[in-house]
Amino acid sequence: MSAIQELETQYSTGIYAKRDLTVVRGEGARLWDEDGKVYIDCIGGMGVASVGHANPKVAKAIAEQAQTLITCHELLYNDRRAQLLEKLAQVTPAGLDRFFLCNSGTEAIEGAIKFARMSTGKSGIVATMRGYHGRTLGSLSATWAPKSDEHFGPLPGGFQHVAYNKLDDLAEKIDDDTAAVLLEIVQGEGGVRPASAEYLQGVQQLCRERDVLLIVDEVQTGFGRTGAFFACEHYGLEPDIMTMAKAIAGGVPMGALAIGPRVQTIHKGTHSSTFGGNPLACAAACAVIDVMQEERLPERAAEVGAYFKEKLEAIDSKKAREVRGLGLLLGVELKTKVGPLLREFMQRGVLVAAAGTTVLRFLPPLVITTDDVDTVVDQVADVLQ
Ligand SMILES: *Cc1c(COP(=O)(O)O)cnc(C)c1O
Repeated sequence: MSAIQELETQYSTGIYAKRDLTVVRGEGARLWDEDGKVYIDCIGGMGVASVGHANPKVAKAIAEQAQTLITCHELLYNDRRAQLLEKLAQVTPAGLDRFFLCNSGTEAIEGAIKFARMSTGKSGIVATMRGYHGRTLGSLSATWAPKSDEHFGPLPGGFQHVAYNKLDDLAEKIDDDTAAVLLEIVQGEGGVRPASAEYLQGVQQLCRERDVLLIVDEVQTGFGRTGAFFACEHYGLEPDIMTMAKAIAGGVPMGALAIGPRVQTIHKGTHSSTFGGNPLACAAACAVIDVMQEERLPERAAEVGAYFKEKLEAIDSKKAREVRGLGLLLGVELKTKVGPLLREFMQRGVLVAAAGTTVLRFLPPLVITTDDVDTVVDQVADVLQ
């Protein structure tokens, strides 16, 4: 264990299961460790580094804003925040044109739950099995984590879980007290499981018919990851509330939720965030949106993702069960546990995430080159032999 690792081990709680690697620098889709060894990064800070590590345009925007104004509570107006809100309205799906800014994905979900309950006057939230929405107590109630009550209970009530991709199950569970349905378009942490188009369109229709709000969690799928700016676009979905975070500000902590016209009743002063909408994060997010548009990163994710997926599918291995995903959110379900393989990939200079215990998950920066994809796929093929 290196001196850095000893310090972290001594002074952190131990709640994270860490890998034996200390990262000190990044560029594009590459990371370097403390000994100068280079890695191709298919973790991307868990889907955060979409514009690439140390993106020069984002770094410049952060540096300039840091020298101008870092903090400005939302009780005052700010130029950078106004600019970001306008940009968000331009890139989010039709109908979504008002935003609440916060600092993480789980906070975006907390806000979504509160806005849905406040607007409808109802309390029920129907989420999905294997869904992931974060770790604070409200989000945890929505996350499919059956053992959480044991460690952290009692959790906030009013939550139910239905089978994902099964419209009948959802139709049955919605009742008179249901405020909203909450789901991901591709379940990320839950194993890289895309929903079918018929299911998603059916969910939206059902929500409208039964007067229930539709909350789509795009924390992982948003900002180009799946080959569209938002995954909703693939299916023509117009959710009532959409949550964002991860890649939104290139790694500067930020979350956001968007609301549409069906979210009507908003009582002033019932929700807030000290850091939410701070100029530093807003400047970073503005730069991220600019880079995504200038470099056509959603289109790039679609192209490189399709190439990557095809190559993964072509691997002939008895250990692989299925390749799934959309754009550059890809998963390989194995017949064995992924844990020991992650270490092997690391030794071969490739960083791969897991989703659950049996799925290899690839979330590289959207700027990853096809040469790097080739190298990754060669290593996957080798390790799975
Ligand atoms: C990561 C994630 C969250 C939680 O985001 P944090 O920033 O870790 O709180 C919520 N929903 C989805 C779909 C996620 O992937």
